[in-house]
Amino acid sequence: MRQWLRRRVVARIAVGALTVGLSLLAGLAVFSSRSTDRAATTAAATQQVSQQWNEIYLKINLEYELLEDFLDTPNENGSQLLLSSIGSAEGNLRWLTANGVDDDRRQAQTLQNAYGGYTYTLRNLIDAVGDHDDARMLDFAEQAALSASALRRQASANVARNNLAIGVTLRVARDANAKILLAVEVISLADLALVLFCGLVLLTYQRRTERQAADNDYRASHDGLTGLANRRLLGEGIDQAITGADLEGHGVGLLLLDLNRFKEVNDTLGHHSGDLLLIEVARRLRASSRPTDLVARLGGDEFAILLPLIGAAEDLPDIAHRVLTDLCGPAEIGGLAVDITGSIGFAFYPGQSSNAEELLQHADIAMYHAKRNHLGAAPYDAENDRNSFEQLTLLADLRGAIDRDELELHYQPKIRVGGGGVAGVEALVRWRHPSRGLLGPGAFVPDAEQSDLMVPLTEAVLHLALRQQRTWREGGLDLPVAVNIGAACLREPGFPGRIADLLALYGAVDGQLTLEITETVLINDPKAVALALGSIRRQGVRVSIDDFGVGYSSMSYLQSMPLDELKIDRKFTMEIRSTDRGRAIVGAIVELAHALGLSVVVEGVEDQETLTEIGELGCELAQGYLMCRPLPAAEIPGWISAWRPSSPQLAG
Ligand code: C2E
Ligand code: MG
Ligand code: MG
Repeated sequence: MRQWLRRRVVARIAVGALTVGLSLLAGLAVFSSRSTDRAATTAAATQQVSQQWNEIYLKINLEYELLEDFLDTPNENGSQLLLSSIGSAEGNLRWLTANGVDDDRRQAQTLQNAYGGYTYTLRNLIDAVGDHDDARMLDFAEQAALSASALRRQASANVARNNLAIGVTLRVARDANAKILLAVEVISLADLALVLFCGLVLLTYQRRTERQAADNDYRASHDGLTGLANRRLLGEGIDQAITGADLEGHGVGLLLLDLNRFKEVNDTLGHHSGDLLLIEVARRLRASSRPTDLVARLGGDEFAILLPLIGAAEDLPDIAHRVLTDLCGPAEIGGLAVDITGSIGFAFYPGQSSNAEELLQHADIAMYHAKRNHLGAAPYDAENDRNSFEQLTLLADLRGAIDRDELELHYQPKIRVGGGGVAGVEALVRWRHPSRGLLGPGAFVPDAEQSDLMVPLTEAVLHLALRQQRTWREGGLDLPVAVNIGAACLREPGFPGRIADLLALYGAVDGQLTLEITETVLINDPKAVALALGSIRRQGVRVSIDDFGVGYSSMSYLQSMPLDELKIDRKFTMEIRSTDRGRAIVGAIVELAHALGLSVVVEGVEDQETLTEIGELGCELAQGYLMCRPLPAAEIPGWISAWRPSSPQLAG
């Protein structure tokens, strides 16, 4: 920036100096022509004066020669000739007296006087010759000779003086000219240097402007973080690819990719780590694509790969799965191992899509479908298109559904491992949709999480769960209930207060309500969350960490947060039987939880062996299809009375 400023200042100074230089040159040209004109005028005037003196000299000489001729042969003719020449220099002398300056005027006046005397002598001499007065004639002749000689000398001296003056004038003019010429040369050289410099500056500016334009163009079409093409360039690329495909008869494929759980990385490890992860994803996608493919980042954690040379739609699944395989896997981000996973949707032109816009839209629908159903990669399917439209309208309906009491809860029991009884139930929301039937939470909870509906939804569930618990209690069944709490709730300052109101409203018993929260909730603003949880626990409500182990959160919160329970995620449960690693992880979590005074629930127990294993690992509570799938409230008392710890196969 400073260098740019300096260059600008230098350029301005150069332009200023050039302007001054050119003005000087112009001034010099005017000055030079004026001084030349002045010198020429002076020289011309001096020349004219000199010419007058020359004429005077010649006329005096002529008069004297005529006098000598007349004296040699004094006759009438000689007398006439002499008489006509007498005073011939008078005109020149008068001119000099009138037009001459200083010396010339003075000399001319002096000469005029002497000339007057001379011409007078000549007339007297002619008279004396006419009178044949020899004595006077000789006298006047002598006087005339003397005067003529003096006059000639004077005239000659003046001629010489004037010639000298012309020489001086010319020399002065030449000197002045030489100086002007030198100045002109110096200034011209300086101006030339400045012109060259300005040209150079101009060229540099032009190059920079061109570079900047290219830079701007690049920035307008590329993602600043990853250097991949952006949405605009992808749009242009799709248009081009489609034109090419139409001409050459091949097809165009589009892969749209969205990272799974990227928000968690951002929230838990920070935006810098999020950026590093995106850069790593970009690197993997580039490495996984061909040079003819266009890899783009559309924003956030959404990427695309345009495949402009695809033979048939059938080629796409293999490519999409290969890209997914190349993409997924652990990455070291800021010293931590982060598991990268994503969902890919793909669409094909022509056939499936009829233009660029549709291709993009279809790939988007496919990606949404893949993500929602945890498919990894999924092709575009017109059926999903309809579903995705329905999905959009679903969220709009959800608000009304809460008010219309269309939500209902199913309950899944938690049992004590090792022969104990039922420890409680987890309330899991369902939506009895008027036209689409009973919808599981997967169909609407993730969307609600992204909207402002999560707090009203959670409050509705809390009402239902506590009301049901009261009903059971009134029927003689004391059953602890766990409710899943949306992340947005703990960010609501009034949430602990509302829990208190609900507990009072339904006369809940201490320790009979558990709130299940996910790890991510703890990481966003941990201080505020710890305060809210502390306040909730003081009301006799237990706090449980749901899906423990799948988030990117740090272990430190286990120590600092007010918690009661850990629920080990299904992902680990499934590995207990299959790998030693899975068993070791669950064992370690159980030990850690117990060391911190937390009870442990293992989720997703689907077989007897797993139940036995977790018992050996010291887990006290289990939940899973082995014991019971989530049931409507009405079926719970029956299931509980039928439950025999020794015969878990009884599970529904
Ligand atoms: P979650 O809280 O971890 O609930 C357990 C989920 O695992 C339930 O799915 C349950 O049916 C399922 N499950 C239980 N045992 C097994 C098993 O042995 N094998 C397998 N494969 N699955 C098992 P569901 O009801 O579809 O709920 C899914 C998720 O939706 C819940 O996970 C929870 O995160 C969320 N959810 C459900 N109800 C609510 C709610 O009222 N509020 C909020 N915020 N989230 C809810
Ligand atoms: Mg739960
Ligand atoms: Mg869970």
